[in-house]
Amino acid sequence: MDGFDIPIGRTKAERRRSAWVTLGQGFEVLLTFSAGEWVNVAAKAPWGETQFQGSVVVLLEAMTRLWRGLAFADPLVPIEKHLIGWRFCRVGLGVHIAPNGALRGMDHEVVPTDDVLRGIVSLGNQLSARLPVAHLAARGWRDRAPVTPEDIAALDASLLKISAQKYNDLGLVPVGKTDDLIYPDDVRVVARSAASRVAPVALRRMLDEIRRSPPQDTPLLDQVAEHLQQSIVLEVGCAFHEMGHAYALAFRQSRGVLPNQPIDIALVLRDFGVEIRRLSVPEAPDLDAVAAWGSYGPVIVVNTQGRHSRTPEGERASLAHEFGHLLVDRNGSRPVADVRWTNGPKGFNASWEQRANAFAAELLLPRETAVRELARQGDLAKTLEVLCSHYQVSQLLALRQLDNHPEGPGGPTSEQSRDIKHKIRKLSLKASSRSAWTRRGPPPKLTR
Ligand SMILES: [Zn+2]
Repeated sequence: MDGFDIPIGRTKAERRRSAWVTLGQGFEVLLTFSAGEWVNVAAKAPWGETQFQGSVVVLLEAMTRLWRGLAFADPLVPIEKHLIGWRFCRVGLGVHIAPNGALRGMDHEVVPTDDVLRGIVSLGNQLSARLPVAHLAARGWRDRAPVTPEDIAALDASLLKISAQKYNDLGLVPVGKTDDLIYPDDVRVVARSAASRVAPVALRRMLDEIRRSPPQDTPLLDQVAEHLQQSIVLEVGCAFHEMGHAYALAFRQSRGVLPNQPIDIALVLRDFGVEIRRLSVPEAPDLDAVAAWGSYGPVIVVNTQGRHSRTPEGERASLAHEFGHLLVDRNGSRPVADVRWTNGPKGFNASWEQRANAFAAELLLPRETAVRELARQGDLAKTLEVLCSHYQVSQLLALRQLDNHPEGPGGPTSEQSRDIKHKIRKLSLKASSRSAWTRRGPPPKLTR
């Protein structure tokens, strides 16, 4: 056995009737055609092997049906989501698309999306070549991609999970070629993330702000981002929030900012060529900010009426959060937009959100600095007063930084720790009940 223990196409005669299809490095499919319209499919992926057997027509029809999911698969959904997959004669073949647009197997081997798509096309072509040209299944495969602008728009809307009406209301125009649907632009990503929770009129205004920001080169940002990537050595299995902290500290250091020095985040963004646009969208209080850094921008559109971003501290935290994405998540094939909610869905990738949040907190107020202030003041209330006014952060952010400080000497006393946790609970409860009220109205009064 040579590691490919699939008994298909092993005899000379079988090999002549077989075709290898490579779906990117390390993921190969061997098609072996038997008499008539029968095919054996043996797939070898880094995470294992699978094989199935059945009719060319059924497989081709299934692939045509799934083609949207295959070709226009959204590279921005979480890795757990099974995007490419079909079941054929009780056996499934699956590939995951990672948030950075690459395909991943279970052992995290990365296969570029384009390679896989090319492979799947040749797989379909191999199958359809076994059928008469006029065969319905072969025709279906050939016509799998829409051609007219109307059909492309309909597909575009369905991939964004919005109605045709909303598609028009949001000012979206169909892309020129269907291939462009594989990597949706910033406006599309924001539209998809927010369309179900924000009224089209309000969302349209945010999108139009993004559209006003043409793509810019940001050499300084690229340079610093690369420097950070290279200078930070992270332990294997390092938690995402720890990464965020490490990046923020390294950034502060690289800019020569002292630990006790507050950061003017708006100024930093300006220096790095990131545009900030402010817009009052009272209809969308849960939407704090959106950021785009691919086909537009980099730009951050702040909702000055956002529940969080309407305060100066909240706006600073939102800006710092987006800056974290720009520095850490922008390299290579990466998300092209971000929607920041006050109390929303946790985003398409909770880990990345966690990292950006930790980055923002540590950038605005390093944990070390917060804890040192507490040691100096001795009193929590007084400490919070000083931290919030000097670093212009919210009480909750300051408390969390105190709470997140690694255990050990110099940290809060156990009594202070209890106090900090208690205050965090109280403040988060207040915040969540406030948002629950505005979403659903006040809780019903109890009647006896
Ligand atoms: Zn985010």
